Amino acid sequence: MSTDSNCIFCKIVAGAIPSKKAYEDAELLVFHDINPWAPVHVLIVPKRHIASLADTGVADEALLGRMLALAPRLMQQLGVANGFRVVVNTGRDGGQEVDHLHVHVMGGPRPWTRG
Ligand code: AMP
Ligand code: ZN
Repeated sequence: MSTDSNCIFCKIVAGAIPSKKAYEDAELLVFHDINPWAPVHVLIVPKRHIASLADTGVADEALLGRMLALAPRLMQQLGVANGFRVVVNTGRDGGQEVDHLHVHVMGGPRPWTRG
C-alpha cells in the first residue's frame, strides 16, 4: 500500500500517532478531528496515501463513492439526527492543510465553533 513517511495521516493509519477511531475497514479509516468545528467532526481517510481530491482519477471512483456513502451511516451511528456538512478542502487555495485526502463530516446541534 502506498504511504508517505512524512504524512501525519499515514502515521495515524499506521498507528504511529494516536487517534480516536470511529470506523475502520480494509480501505478506510475514520477518526475524530483533533480541533473540531462541530459537536461531531470526523475525518474519513483512505488508508492508501492520496495527496488530495485533485490527485484522484477514474480508478478511484469506487473508493470516493465509498467515502461519501459512509458519511450518513457514520452520522447516524454517532447520534447526529438533524443534518451534517461534508467538506473536502483541496489544494492550497481550497484550504487544505494536511496533504492526505480526507472528507470532513460535521454535525450535531448548533452553534458550532466554526462553519
Ligand atoms: P484540512 O484543512 O482540510 O487539511 O483539514 C485538516 C484537519 O486535520 C484539520 O481539521 C485538523 O484539525 C485535523 N488534524 C490535524 N492533525 C490531526 C490529528 N493528529 N488528529 C486528528 N485530526 C487532525
Ligand atoms: Zn498520507
